[in-house]
Amino acid sequence: MKTVYTLVSSPTHAYAGHPESPQRFARLEACLSRRTDIERLEAAPARLDEISRVHTPRMITGLEAACRQGPGIIDHAPTYVTRTSFDDALLASGGTLACSRLVWEGAAPNGFALVRPPGHHAEPGRAMGFCLFNNAAVAAKDALARGLERALIVDFDAHHGNGTQAAFRDDERVAYLSTHQEGIYPGSGRIEDVPHAKGRIVNVPLPAFSGDAAFRRIAEAVITPLAARFRPQMIFVSAGFDSHWNDPLTSLGLTSAGFFVLAQRLVGLAQEHCGGKIVFVLEGGYDPQNVADGATAVFAALTGSESAPGGGDASPHPEPDITPRLDEVRRWQGL
Ligand SMILES: [Zn+2]
Repeated sequence: MKTVYTLVSSPTHAYAGHPESPQRFARLEACLSRRTDIERLEAAPARLDEISRVHTPRMITGLEAACRQGPGIIDHAPTYVTRTSFDDALLASGGTLACSRLVWEGAAPNGFALVRPPGHHAEPGRAMGFCLFNNAAVAAKDALARGLERALIVDFDAHHGNGTQAAFRDDERVAYLSTHQEGIYPGSGRIEDVPHAKGRIVNVPLPAFSGDAAFRRIAEAVITPLAARFRPQMIFVSAGFDSHWNDPLTSLGLTSAGFFVLAQRLVGLAQEHCGGKIVFVLEGGYDPQNVADGATAVFAALTGSESAPGGGDASPHPEPDITPRLDEVRRWQGL
């Protein structure tokens, strides 16, 4: 098989004026249909027992009730639900499972779940932050139930993945590494967030405008040594293209070329440690062109392209020096 992907665009999970909208996928379809080196999988809804490996029964029934009574707002993020959102969220998790199962079983080399609603803010006990079910966590738990012993989840969304951190804070089979802009939603993700999981849950909060240069250094100084020490058998990536400098909600500094270099490094680590097994899962990213360009960059890395596609989106902001931050992270994590 080729590199696999799923596309779950959830057209009726929509709320007037909200940035997490079906419009995010507006430029995606065209760039996917041009490629002959990737293979689309049909998504089936995740089953409730698959969702309940991450989420509590109370959370699942509460979310279903809120959706059936929708449309409505369920938190201050604001996170919205509509009458179809429960089924949309099951399909987003199911689309992620479709990719991760084939990759874990070795039938496909690697994959990318392009799904919404996103997942990484969704905690075991509550949906939040535009996220309903935690798609990446559901997929990692599923692979763990099928014999995977150690997974690494890398989350380069501009926001901290509090939901993923919560899902695995006491699960020693999973290492979680998040890069995010410091001081923005949801407020978690400090270096010392989870002292008892030091060395396994790794938070790298970054100053505004940290971009391609910062992420090269993080890959080299934090992600690579963490992977060498943890020796994952599969890598999951929470890919949020809101870390692009042009995102309307956040202020990090990555470009399409930066996404390519980062994805290429993660694919390289998967080849080194995991027989190539890596699955990217879409999280945020609120500019449709950034989502399309970011996905193109990730597919280029997954299919072994040697050079970055596109370009022409250089950041206008000078990058801060993240050396002191990297030193702090490495010292706390013993890397
Ligand atoms: Zn985000």
